[in-house]
Amino acid sequence: MATYKAPLRDMKFVYRELFDGDALTSLPGYADFSADVVDAVLEEAAKISQEVLFPLNRSGDEEGRHFENGVVRTPKGFKEAYDQFTAGGWTGLGADPEFGGQGAPKALNMLVEEMICSANMAFGMYPGLTHGAYNALKLYGTDEQKQTYLPKFTDGTWSGTMCLTEPQCGTDLGLVRTKAEPQADGSYNLTGTKIFISAGEHDLTQNIVHLVLARMPDAPPGIKGISLFICPKFLPKPDGSPGARNGASCGAIEQKMGIKASATCVINFDGAKGWLVGEKNKGMRAMFAMMNTARLGVGVQGLGLSEVSYQGGLLYARERLQGRSLKGTVSPEKPADSLIVHPDVRKNLLTMKALTEGMRALVMWVSTSQDKAEKSATEAERTEHDDLIQFLTPVVKAFGTDIGFDNANLGVQIFGGHGYIREHGMEQFVRDARITQIYEGTNGIQALDLVGRKMTAHYGRYMRAFFHPVQAFIEQNAADPAMEEIVTELAKGFGRLQQAVGQIAQKGMSNPNEAGAGASDLLKLLSYVSVGFMWARMAKLALGKQNDDPTGFYKGKIKTAKFYMHKLMPITGALLSSIMAGGETIMDMEDELFDAGLAA
Ligand SMILES: Cc1cc2nc3c(=O)[nH]c(=O)nc-3n(C[C@H](O)[C@H](O)[C@H](O)COP(=O)(O)OP(=O)(O)OC[C@H]3O[C@@H](n4cnc5c(N)ncnc54)[C@H](O)[C@@H]3O)c2cc1C
Repeated sequence: MATYKAPLRDMKFVYRELFDGDALTSLPGYADFSADVVDAVLEEAAKISQEVLFPLNRSGDEEGRHFENGVVRTPKGFKEAYDQFTAGGWTGLGADPEFGGQGAPKALNMLVEEMICSANMAFGMYPGLTHGAYNALKLYGTDEQKQTYLPKFTDGTWSGTMCLTEPQCGTDLGLVRTKAEPQADGSYNLTGTKIFISAGEHDLTQNIVHLVLARMPDAPPGIKGISLFICPKFLPKPDGSPGARNGASCGAIEQKMGIKASATCVINFDGAKGWLVGEKNKGMRAMFAMMNTARLGVGVQGLGLSEVSYQGGLLYARERLQGRSLKGTVSPEKPADSLIVHPDVRKNLLTMKALTEGMRALVMWVSTSQDKAEKSATEAERTEHDDLIQFLTPVVKAFGTDIGFDNANLGVQIFGGHGYIREHGMEQFVRDARITQIYEGTNGIQALDLVGRKMTAHYGRYMRAFFHPVQAFIEQNAADPAMEEIVTELAKGFGRLQQAVGQIAQKGMSNPNEAGAGASDLLKLLSYVSVGFMWARMAKLALGKQNDDPTGFYKGKIKTAKFYMHKLMPITGALLSSIMAGGETIMDMEDELFDAGLAA
């Protein structure tokens, strides 16, 4: 059976030991988040995830959400779980105390998010989308908008949505058609249809607040003519309670591959009342500010699914008896040995473990940087941390979700046929994980973001925020015999990355298709090096602590680091070869040749 236990030891390791999360208390507003408070938050989050959310994961998937006459009902138990979730203050953990939140560090929040995604990703979509709406309003809303909506988002009584997608407009948001007609009272009438809107309609909250991309009548074409609006399902009364029904309604819900308990809605705006958020025609700026944070959140969804898939696979590999060890029987008293004796099964498990824990460390690096980018004393420090976040956001989003899907697949593989059938719950993780590679900018678009924006921005300044610490680590540890084998492999991967960046920068300048053709491979290469850097740092730390540790935690870290360097880092070699081969074979094929084999 699928199983979930929050990996608290590893979470505390990455938060406290690897990235010195306890020192975040010196930043303004974080003084209360001492080590014991952080531990208490993690332990309580583990409890609600394991005891309340995880037991509803399977039943929510089986039952799905219901749609009747514009009304959406979430699966049995979801409303009670949501009420418990809000009563525990979880919707306000990272929110600003000014709006009733607890103001926790983003790094701590990310660990809690991971647990929620492991336990029940579909449930997590409801409060998750509210985070996105909260961030957009906090950055760009008027004081009145903030006072009206943010306390309700924080206490979870109202939820939020992000309404971007339309039937003709997915990746290319310049194609948005939804109209916003200005009214005499300063509001706007919104008319149009949005599709695929997560948490667009449901029964968990008193009100649902849509953040909508739309176009004013005099707007220039394309993305330069898009504005952001706020449009609640119920118009707030002067006392802040939900009032008259607005003209935004759910026309249908999608039948989909996974996250079946999450309502993915068609939302019709029929002259619905809305208000501008931020500046006219600057909606994309607000969207991007929000989207960067949301992309990290989606990467964490992948990480959460990777963890829960690993745990299921590991338990099964210990319990299931099949065949004998190649080197002779291990458990003669049993009819067969456990799956875990077989090299192929062990390789799958180690791949899952190495990628999951490495990604968790990378998320911690980025999220502690978020805290520092927001709260450090000097502009220079804030910029330096923000540069790193900018550069690694596509890595966390794309690689986090790729490993989520790949590891969910490996989880099924370890279960064999028992993974493919529904009974054990492993196939659900594959179905749930698949969407994470698509929404918040597909992973292909993340790769274009890397080569088109992040690599080139400020003459490579974002890139240097990553390259410099890796280079420095390699130099500082090259002479340490205990680190030699790890640093050697990291240096090889890093060298390949530098070569690949040079190739794409040079070739892409004269032919943009060259950059487009190599972008996904480059993002993957960067991802393996980034996670490899995390493993090198974890190994270094663990080498100093392994002798005083009866649990074997640090020993496990060192061995996994070696596995990563020898068995996964070499993938960077293949990626480099593909990049160096250029894009000619991709672009050289005439369009009509794609279906030449279909002729009679
Ligand atoms: C379950 C679910 C929940 C969702 N939730 C929301 C939500 O809450 N709010 C919301 O607004 N939207 C939501 N979406 C929509 C989602 O964000 C889009 O599906 C996604 O952005 C991709 O758009 P598309 O499906 O139209 O694909 P398209 O844009 O048509 O892309 C199709 C393929 O072409 C590639 N492609 C497109 N353009 C380019 C290019 N320029 N260069 C290279 N490759 C390109 C893409 O990578 C993709 O592989 C959701 C979707 C689903 C399925």
